[in-house]
Amino acid sequence: MSKTSITVAYGDGIGPEIMDATLKILDAAGAQLDIETIEIGEKVYLRGGTTGLEESAWDSLRRTKVFLKAPITTPQGGGYKSLNVTIRKALGLYANVRPAVAYYPFVETKHPNMDVVIIRENEEDLYAGIEHRQTEQVYQCLKLITQPGSEKVIRYAFEYARSYGRKKVTCFVKDNIMKLTDGIFHRMFDEIGKEYPDIEKETWIVDIGAAKLANSPEEFDVIVMPNLYGDIMSDIAAQISGSVGLGGSANIGDQCAMFEAVHGSAPPLAGKNLANPSGLLLAAVMMLQHIGQPEVAARVHNAWLKTIEDGIHTFDIYREGISKQQVGTKEFAEAVIDRLGQLPEKLPPVAYKEAPKLHAVLKQRQKQKKELFGVDIFLDWDKGTAEELGKALEQFKAGNLKLRVITNRGVKVYPGGLPETFCTDHWRCRFHAEPGETIEHRQIVELYNQLVAAGYDCIKTENLYLFDGEPGFAAVHG
Ligand code: NAD
Repeated sequence: MSKTSITVAYGDGIGPEIMDATLKILDAAGAQLDIETIEIGEKVYLRGGTTGLEESAWDSLRRTKVFLKAPITTPQGGGYKSLNVTIRKALGLYANVRPAVAYYPFVETKHPNMDVVIIRENEEDLYAGIEHRQTEQVYQCLKLITQPGSEKVIRYAFEYARSYGRKKVTCFVKDNIMKLTDGIFHRMFDEIGKEYPDIEKETWIVDIGAAKLANSPEEFDVIVMPNLYGDIMSDIAAQISGSVGLGGSANIGDQCAMFEAVHGSAPPLAGKNLANPSGLLLAAVMMLQHIGQPEVAARVHNAWLKTIEDGIHTFDIYREGISKQQVGTKEFAEAVIDRLGQLPEKLPPVAYKEAPKLHAVLKQRQKQKKELFGVDIFLDWDKGTAEELGKALEQFKAGNLKLRVITNRGVKVYPGGLPETFCTDHWRCRFHAEPGETIEHRQIVELYNQLVAAGYDCIKTENLYLFDGEPGFAAVHG
């Protein structure tokens, strides 16, 4: 078998110890790897690299396209960008795959039959880092969900389910509140799901879905969700399956992929030969499938399962009466190496084929007719009541562009607001045409100039568009 080039980073904290343990096991199992090492993390940040990654590291990553990464420590204080977010976005790693499996009765868990894979959208949502302070009182973070981004990760989830023999894909969203952003994710789930009639589909509102996942995870199989929910839910899933120390994850893109443990660098454990290397090892098992060495992946995974069922445990999963021997990181790795070639007897053994190469083929879509209908102008204003602001703004018009409604934190306060509604200094003033009409951009500029000339602080505008006649903005209720 020819060797596959991969990029490896040892990271910070417990990173070097668990990476060492992992690579020793892979080597002993016969993995054919040509390893390029790069430096990432704290040292790079403290040398002044704002992303925690040397410029030269990109050459290696773009050459090998496969990254096995140990956790890093993000230094406290401002000005440092998240290394993970940078890598995911720069390399287009749109799907984060996190299996959470119970190893009962060998690892304590309240959920013996749990075997869930969370597929988290990895590039969008509130993680764009587009945040603004707009007024004295109000701070904003922009949530961006795209149609192609949703389509890609949802198709990945269905393809993953099909190739790994999974029966059901569940979607978690909050589209009862976020009708447009989570709404498009849900719509893509319904649309793409139709192409997979062999797979059962269901959608849960994320709050009750999360409660169900925490209470009866065995009811779920594959779950796909937007970035923030996936971030939170996958940690919960890893923890309730037994330990965050056991979770591995794959970050998959069309060209590159990154494999890492779910947990962080655990600084208090560093250098003590205590950390459980299993999260990184199970991530490496996913990597071996990805690079076409599925037999080695299975050999490593089965030896690991046998070690776990033989009761050889690191401190985090060690339990009196269940475990047989408490070991350190190095000894755990040696125990796995000793069991290479063996199969577990009580836990189900694994067998792998090469992971399918999934390319996000986006569906051809007809461009919709986009028409300008109005504008939301946001004001920083603290001079009186909603009624007074509304009355004052009624006089500003630009052709058919007229004030229709004012909201404060999304609650309608004019016309016909309630005096009880608490108002901040942040007012969203909606101006638009009559139904069936459209406006031109110059009318917005005209209106904006009138407001500024009258002394209003316009902090932002957001155009209101119709797409094939359908509003591309949330309605105001109340
Ligand atoms: P953490 O995951 O490092 O630790 C959380 C808890 O889990 C701690 O009690 C720790 O001792 C335990 N733990 C973690 N890994 C373990 C292992 N392999 N074996 C046994 N116990 C383990 O999270 P944290 O303490 O919030 O963060 C520490 C640092 O890690 C921070 O600087 C954070 O930014 C960073 N971090 C990095 C990544 C990454 O590089 N992917 C992810 C998360 C956090």
